[in-house]
Amino acid sequence: MHQFQYRQGVLHCEEVNLNTLAAEHGTPLYVYSARTLRENYQRLDEALKNLDHHIAYAVKANSNLSVLRLLAELGSGFDIVSGGELFRVIKAGGNPGLCSFAGVGKTAEEITYALEQKIYCFNIESLAELEFINSVAGENSTTAPIALRINPNVDAGTHKYISTGKAENKFGIDHEAVREVYERAARLPHIRIRGIQMHIGSQLTSATPFVEAVERVLPLVSELKSAHDLEFFSIGGGIGIVYEEALASGHPDWWNRQEEPPLSPEIYANKLVPLLDSLGLKILLEPGRYMSGNAGVLLTTCLYEKKGQAKTFKIVDAGMNDLIRPALYEGHHEIVPLEESRMTNRITADVVGPICESGDFFCQGREIPDIKANDIIALMSAGAYSFTMASNYNSRPLPAEILIDGRQVHLARRRQSWDDLVTSE
Ligand SMILES: *Cc1c(COP(=O)(O)O)cnc(C)c1O
Repeated sequence: MHQFQYRQGVLHCEEVNLNTLAAEHGTPLYVYSARTLRENYQRLDEALKNLDHHIAYAVKANSNLSVLRLLAELGSGFDIVSGGELFRVIKAGGNPGLCSFAGVGKTAEEITYALEQKIYCFNIESLAELEFINSVAGENSTTAPIALRINPNVDAGTHKYISTGKAENKFGIDHEAVREVYERAARLPHIRIRGIQMHIGSQLTSATPFVEAVERVLPLVSELKSAHDLEFFSIGGGIGIVYEEALASGHPDWWNRQEEPPLSPEIYANKLVPLLDSLGLKILLEPGRYMSGNAGVLLTTCLYEKKGQAKTFKIVDAGMNDLIRPALYEGHHEIVPLEESRMTNRITADVVGPICESGDFFCQGREIPDIKANDIIALMSAGAYSFTMASNYNSRPLPAEILIDGRQVHLARRRQSWDDLVTSE
């Protein structure tokens, strides 16, 4: 679970009072829990202990150097999707030899940098990319370790913007074409085949699509293993988290409301390990959201209340530039007041930001605590795909990020100033 709990009526992250923290650092403010990150990593690692496996954290979920450093120290590898992410991993002390490079549009500059850094593997998404990486490796008088990303054509049952494993998605190589592309790869002089990879989508809340995808590709993976001497099979990321969660008080108990328990590392492992352990390949996992999602919150202060004809709006000082998930793919964040006493009075309202866009909201027509001006709320589960998607839209400086470890408060990124907005112009 996570380390955000009420103590003496105030929301804490681990041992730290979030009201005090917000008074010192201002809002909007991202706050991450080191203990939650560690527990998430160790719980997944433990659930898979009977399988030859390695976890490669998907950097794009939360790429703060302090987060990457913490995971590197636990032994994590990294799934990267750009040269910039590789640069961050290296800056954080991560091992490039444990990095897999995914993404459909790798450039010559990025490929060259990744070759120089001797990354573990390029995950190839098209025949054209394979040929290009072969030529770039040749120009650098080296060979590129590769895996092909297979598109298993399964429905991940998730939002269409974060589904990646269907034939109509831009990702991966069609199941039917994979064999031929491996044969081509085997003939290329600057390519070394290392494995096979897939990733069917994000925020999956059931193990069924994972099982379906693995079952679909397993015979082919076995065949390719013998034909091309594969060393690993990466089953990607995608483990979902519980966004609509109860904090200890004020809410009905989430666990009793659900017929099916949420997807957990144990359920995931129980379903997948039996399918995978006889394969004789190292299994790689690329979790992003699972690792950092519930390890972070975004604190924001209520500025105004506005009662319109049709609706009540609570206007806060964070906007879609700070946290775009609700606007981008209908992402849900629980709204929790830092003062527990605010839980009892409830109201149906929209929580909106200051940005000049109607998409700038954190909830619409939701029953929430009746917060007043100057109250601070936490937008829960904002540790993944939150700060990493933040922008300077409306010329708003990026918020600060704090990493909490027990009682320790570490400023993991200072708040941008107005000067920062214009320094590169
Ligand atoms: C984004 C991504 C992941 C991580 O997805 P999560 O849903 O955050 O676990 C893993 N692998 C690849 C190739 C990705 O693009």
